Amino acid sequence: MNIDFSPEELAFQQEVREWFAQNLPADLKRKTELGIMLSKDELVAWQRILNGRGWLVTGWPKEYGGPDWTATQRYIFDMERARANAPIGLSMGIIMLGPVLMAFGTQEQKDYYLPRIRNCDDWWCQGYSEPGAGSDLASLKTMAVSDGDDYIVNGSKIWTTYGHWANRIFCLVRTSTEGKKQEGISFLLIDMDTPGIEVRPIISIDGEHHLNETFFTDVRVPKKNLVGKEGQGWTVAKYLLTHERTTIAGVADSKVHMTNLKRMARENGANGEPLMNDPNLRQKLAKAEINLTALEYTNLRTLAATAAGKAPGPESSLLKLDGTAVQQELSELGVELAGQYAWPWKAEGEVGPAEYASTMMRYAFTRAATIYGGSDEVQKNVIAKMILGLNFK
Ligand SMILES: Cc1cc2nc3c(=O)[nH]c(=O)nc-3n(C[C@H](O)[C@H](O)[C@H](O)COP(=O)(O)OP(=O)(O)OC[C@H]3O[C@@H](n4cnc5c(N)ncnc54)[C@H](O)[C@@H]3O)c2cc1C
Repeated sequence: MNIDFSPEELAFQQEVREWFAQNLPADLKRKTELGIMLSKDELVAWQRILNGRGWLVTGWPKEYGGPDWTATQRYIFDMERARANAPIGLSMGIIMLGPVLMAFGTQEQKDYYLPRIRNCDDWWCQGYSEPGAGSDLASLKTMAVSDGDDYIVNGSKIWTTYGHWANRIFCLVRTSTEGKKQEGISFLLIDMDTPGIEVRPIISIDGEHHLNETFFTDVRVPKKNLVGKEGQGWTVAKYLLTHERTTIAGVADSKVHMTNLKRMARENGANGEPLMNDPNLRQKLAKAEINLTALEYTNLRTLAATAAGKAPGPESSLLKLDGTAVQQELSELGVELAGQYAWPWKAEGEVGPAEYASTMMRYAFTRAATIYGGSDEVQKNVIAKMILGLNFK
């Protein structure tokens, strides 16, 4: 197995690096560096710049406007994006819905929605989780009842990320209560301005508004918005969840975070000495870097297997589990390094160096990383069954 980049891949890396240096607006770069949340307008504008270069829908095939990159090129691109302090694309439409429409959508759905996703004309959010259906997603209760050419949808979704920015939502709904609970689920596309939809904010622990509850009361949805067949929603949802993601481990951003932490430890001091001289802190930084390097090599091994034609499998659970553990470890070290500068909440530029202002927010929000996208325990169950071959009830 070869995990070194080829000369062509190194040339590609250089091209991407130069492009970011020339095209990333300075204010976006600075905000990303400082961990300041961007507005929807800023994100859409940036994603349109990427799309102009043909580098937004990097995982899509050429026929749908993707650059036709290998998994390794996508990995390199993500490394360079993080290194340049470029915002990460907000990707429900790009990473989740796009591939689903390519695999299960009608020609009409593909023709209409895919170009709109690429050009960021639509902001999609994901309506899967419900108060009683998170890890046990198949227990979802939001009902879609057939009424002529429409469904009438009633129920509620929770943790809808950026639902307040979205003009469309892809939802898992129950179209039947017969048989196995997985068999009665369907996948519906719903316009957020349809009468009967209400979005209520959930303010998360970092004090920001990313999350929402979404309520549906007699919401009329045309049947042409069904993706796949009625009752096929579970198959569609599983396809979406296992769809290949080379960036699930978050290695690129963690590497940049690690570099910044080491720089801060060298540049800042206590009692006339750089923090880096503290053997206890050095040991913690070294441990975090070892964990990150191990994660990076696991990620590269997965890429090498993908490049050799093997389908990505349950290793993504391993990458998610360890990747989020590393993110949490680094965010904890950030708080330790910032010391008293981490105490103020959102004190951008007011107390101590500006780069410490988001330390506590980052620490707080990173707690959620081991819940969203499948909790730690759920990933461990997958690893136990699929990788270790353990059978348990
Ligand atoms: C920041 C954030 C953003 C999110 N964004 C979205 C979004 O945009 N759209 C969306 O649909 N959802 C979203 N979610 C929801 C997310 O997918 C769920 O929170 C997640 O699947 C866990 O479900 P739950 O919260 O219902 O917890 P539960 O499933 O109730 O889990 C509670 C606890 O029990 C454990 N547990 C559950 N089942 C098992 C088991 N079988 N074995 C061992 N332990 C188990 C869990 O690990 C957890 O510790 C988001 C969540 C967060 C935190």
